[in-house]
Amino acid sequence: MFIFDAHLDLAMNAMEWNRDLTWSVESIRTGEIGMSDKPDRNKNTVSLRAMRKGNIGLCVATQIARFTKKTNPLPGWKSPQQAWAQTQGQLAWYNTMEDLGEMVQIRNYEQLNAHLELWSTFQEKKPIGYILSLEGADSIITMDYLEKSYEQGLRAIGPAHYGPGTYAQGTNGTGGLGLKGKVLLREIEHLGLILDMSHLNDKCFWETMRFYDGPMWASHTNCRTLVDHNRQFSDEQIKELINRDAVIGMAMDAWMLASNWIRGMSSPGGLGVTLHTVIDHIDHICQLAGNSDHVGIGTDLDGGFGTEQCPSDIDTISDLQKIPKMLQKRGYSTRDIENIMHKNFVQFLQKTWK
Ligand SMILES: [Zn+2]
Repeated sequence: MFIFDAHLDLAMNAMEWNRDLTWSVESIRTGEIGMSDKPDRNKNTVSLRAMRKGNIGLCVATQIARFTKKTNPLPGWKSPQQAWAQTQGQLAWYNTMEDLGEMVQIRNYEQLNAHLELWSTFQEKKPIGYILSLEGADSIITMDYLEKSYEQGLRAIGPAHYGPGTYAQGTNGTGGLGLKGKVLLREIEHLGLILDMSHLNDKCFWETMRFYDGPMWASHTNCRTLVDHNRQFSDEQIKELINRDAVIGMAMDAWMLASNWIRGMSSPGGLGVTLHTVIDHIDHICQLAGNSDHVGIGTDLDGGFGTEQCPSDIDTISDLQKIPKMLQKRGYSTRDIENIMHKNFVQFLQKTWK
């Protein structure tokens, strides 16, 4: 079955982890034996080849670079100018993948439909379609830069990531939007970008709901009722997203799936975190909605973790193909399964771009 993944940090892996994603997952792992600078060395699950094998022909791929002021203990760039330059390097990598025929940027209705058509045919090496998204808006120096990004193909944006941001407050952050955040939201509306609600703290989430009228999704956030953390959505937030016709992508980071996860101590095998646990979160959203129209897949499988912190039945991203059968066993119809695996996000884009 065709799969849409609403959250991958492909360029970050290429440019910061120094991974050539045209390689197989196995080759990337072998090349990292003995390295310990990142927690997921030798344990990655994502490559373009593995995506092709898993029929994951379309994804939302990020640019990501944090700017941190002196008082912020999180790692990040010292100035928004450096953060901008970092995202431009990431874009340059995506563009070279396009030159190789490995990827293709999807920025409008016609390109989307043509891409879906291409993936419905049999062909040896199909390019992975990507919708360019910015995770955390700190690198947007002024609104002119947002316009520049739009021209480069940017189609979705999350105002914040972790901690305090220039425009909004992210996971674990305190405070609201402020004037800059509101200016950003107006410009997002003006350009017709999709607003990504993932990572906004509760205060910014609800302020945004009052202030913003454009299209929104949540690329990668799970359910707070199942795993209690401010990174996740409460049932009230999920219901509001459903009211706004949003689609919520399910993330595959183990700590967001199992409530008893202890960082650096727990293992997916030890705690029994599997794709079934992901389906528990999918099911929770379907029950709140009363249908299967508002949930999708947004794995984040290359977001700084690998097999040490993802469902134990995932070795590479191609194992997402196990989900349809598992959903079927839990009573989901073919139509429901298609909705979850790709249709909800695809139709969201078609509606937004038409
Ligand atoms: Zn990410």
